[in-house]
Amino acid sequence: MTRPSRARVDLDALRHNYSLARRMHGGRALAVIKANAYGHGAVRCAEALQDHADGFAVAFLEEAVALRAGGIEGPILVLEGLFDAAELKAARTLNLWIVVHQEAQLRMIENDRVFDHLEVWLKADSGMGRAGFALADMPSAYARLQATGKVSNITLMTHFARADEPGSDATSRQVAAFNAATAALLGDRSLSNSAGILQWPSARRDWSRPGILLYGADPVPQRGAGEGGDEQLRPVMTLESEVFAVRTLQSGDALGYGGGFVATEPTRIGLIAIGYADGYPRLATTGTPVAVDGTITRVVGRASMDMLTIDLSRHPGSGIGSRVELWGRHVPVNEVARCAGTISYELLCNVKRVSIIDETGIDKAWDRCAAKEDVGNAPITKRRAAA
Ligand SMILES: *Cc1c(COP(=O)(O)O)cnc(C)c1O
Repeated sequence: MTRPSRARVDLDALRHNYSLARRMHGGRALAVIKANAYGHGAVRCAEALQDHADGFAVAFLEEAVALRAGGIEGPILVLEGLFDAAELKAARTLNLWIVVHQEAQLRMIENDRVFDHLEVWLKADSGMGRAGFALADMPSAYARLQATGKVSNITLMTHFARADEPGSDATSRQVAAFNAATAALLGDRSLSNSAGILQWPSARRDWSRPGILLYGADPVPQRGAGEGGDEQLRPVMTLESEVFAVRTLQSGDALGYGGGFVATEPTRIGLIAIGYADGYPRLATTGTPVAVDGTITRVVGRASMDMLTIDLSRHPGSGIGSRVELWGRHVPVNEVARCAGTISYELLCNVKRVSIIDETGIDKAWDRCAAKEDVGNAPITKRRAAA
């Protein structure tokens, strides 16, 4: 018997969400597929978007290498930029776009002996306080990049710290500060992540960088229908399994590690072969919604490493083989995240060990191992045949 736990990805929904983001923001959109496309399989998602997206963005070089090795062409922006000169060489070979957000990266280009046409996104820290040049240093960083003669194009970017907070004026202040600091500099601009696209029209520029919204999780769950009109985000991932054992607890029986759930009446329990080792959050305990055969019930007790228990008391028709959705169309991933005290991003990124399949039903092994193995010296050939 094969364990029936899997992450099903709906690539039509992915394309729908990408188009929605691009239309809402205007201009061009880099599909952010770092962290294995937020757990959805980076090569698979890039393939699905290849004919639609203006380009892709990943966090670091190895993630870009994995995409190129998977046969992905077109622009790929490396959001954290490069860590050393060897990476600069690789980035050039693979024709990657690079973020430059600090002095060391600027020097790397200045000191490099190769004359070349690099595509650089120069990043300003407009208030996040994490990465990016100080606003006052942007003009000089820009001038130094130009002076190298190695840069063919400079896009100006910044990143928002609180765009998911409708009531905060932090984003407006970041936009104003960025505008002031870069007013004299030529080039395309890129400000908005998903939350920026959805609710800060004043931040719309030449390029957007949607991540989480591509996967159909609204970064501002409390947001009303709002500007998307009738169009809705569609969840891309359905994390699913089946009931594989059933038992009935009697009043007073304790369930699972810690015995935190104690039955107060006869309670029919379904056992699911998925746990925190697969990415289901251990903190999503009794009361977290889960769907069985399409109707909502609840988790009971604590998720363990490989197993989860759910309440089937009000689902007498369900039993071994019943389909269980941990999140997806019936159970919003945002809702599970809320129960676990975290955000959808973390849940989606953490999915592992289960098969990832799309409409074709084929599990592509590389989707599960993300960009971990054999990337250092990966040949730039398609690994598809091998997988
Ligand atoms: C991850 C990331 C994004 C995407 O953010 P979402 O909130 O998922 O849309 C955009 N820009 C940068 C610089 C990022 O690091």
